[in-house]
Amino acid sequence: FRFISRCKSSVVGTKDGLQQRLLSTSQPQRLAGKVAVITGAASGIGKATATEFIRQGAYVILADIKHEQGQATAVELGPNAIFTPCDVTKESDISSSINLAVKTHGRVDIVYNNAGIAGSLAPSITELDLADFDRVMAVNVRSVVAGIKHAARAMIPRQAGCILCTASVSAILGGMAGLDYSVSKCAVAGAVRSAAAELSAYGVRVNGISPHAIPTGFGMDAMLELFPGLTEERAVEMIQGVGELKGARCEPEDIAKAALFLASDEAKYISGHNLVVDGGFTVFKKLAFPRP
Ligand code: NAD
Repeated sequence: FRFISRCKSSVVGTKDGLQQRLLSTSQPQRLAGKVAVITGAASGIGKATATEFIRQGAYVILADIKHEQGQATAVELGPNAIFTPCDVTKESDISSSINLAVKTHGRVDIVYNNAGIAGSLAPSITELDLADFDRVMAVNVRSVVAGIKHAARAMIPRQAGCILCTASVSAILGGMAGLDYSVSKCAVAGAVRSAAAELSAYGVRVNGISPHAIPTGFGMDAMLELFPGLTEERAVEMIQGVGELKGARCEPEDIAKAALFLASDEAKYISGHNLVVDGGFTVFKKLAFPRP
C-alpha cells in the first residue's frame, strides 16, 4: 500500500479522445517523505522549486521576507507547505527556519539557500556605493554561509543531507551583471566548494545551481529601473532574449528540475558541483569574422 500511495497516477487520453485510461506510471516520487527548507520561496525560482519538491513527495518549509506572498504561496501549495517569516540577513531567522523543519517533521534532509537580490545597478565601478555592496553581500553571501552553517548543524548528527545554493552565470562570466552581484555569486560558488570539502566527511552533499537570466521579480524590477518606460512584456522579451539555445528559454521550472535532481538520490555521488542551467551560454563564444 505504501508503494502504491507513493506512485503518481495520471489520466492519459488516446489520440482520438474516445477513451481515457487511468494509468499508474509506477514511478515512485523522487523526494517521498523528505523534508526541505527553501529560502526565497515566496516567488520565482524558490516557489517553482517548492512546487516541484512537493509534487515529488517532500514537505517544504517556505522561508521568505515577504510575509503575505509567502503565506499565499504556502496556501496554494497545500498541506505539505509551511510558510515561515525569514529575513536571511538575520542568522537567527535562518536557524529558526531549520529548527521549525526539525520540530515539525523530525529532521531536515534538504536546505536550499536560494534567496537573493539583484546588485546595486551602479552604471560603473567608479559609482559603486560600498554601502550597497555590503547590502548585496549580506543578502546573497552571508545568508548562504549562515544557511550552510545551520543546515550542517542539523545534518551532521544524521550523517546525511543535501545543501543547495543558488549562484548564477554571473559567477562564471564577467559582464552579465554589476560587479557587486558578480562578486556575491562567485562567493556562493566558493562557499559551495569549501563546504562540500568539509561536509563530505559527514555524508552531507553541497551543490550550487547557476541559472541564466529569467524574468522573475528580481530581474524584472532591475530591468524596469534601468529602462524607465519599458513595458513588462518588452522587459520579459529582453531578459529571455539573451539566451543562445534556439527554441527554448530559461524558466524557473528549469532550475526547479535541476534542484530536484541534485536533491534526489539520483545525485547521491554528486557534491561540490555547480550545475549551470544556461543553454550552454557560458561555455562558448561564437566565432564572428570581421567582414573581408
Ligand atoms: P525572485 O525575486 O522571484 O525571488 C527572490 C526571493 O527572495 C523573493 O521571494 C524575495 O522575497 C526573497 N528575498 C529577498 N531578500 C530576502 C531576505 N533578506 N530574506 C529572505 N528572503 C528574501 O527572484 P529569483 O530569480 O527567483 O531569485 C532567486 C535566486 O536566483 C536569487 O539568489 C538570484 O540571485 C538567483 N538568480 C536569479 C536569476 C534570474 O535571472 N532570475 C539568474 C541567476 C540567479
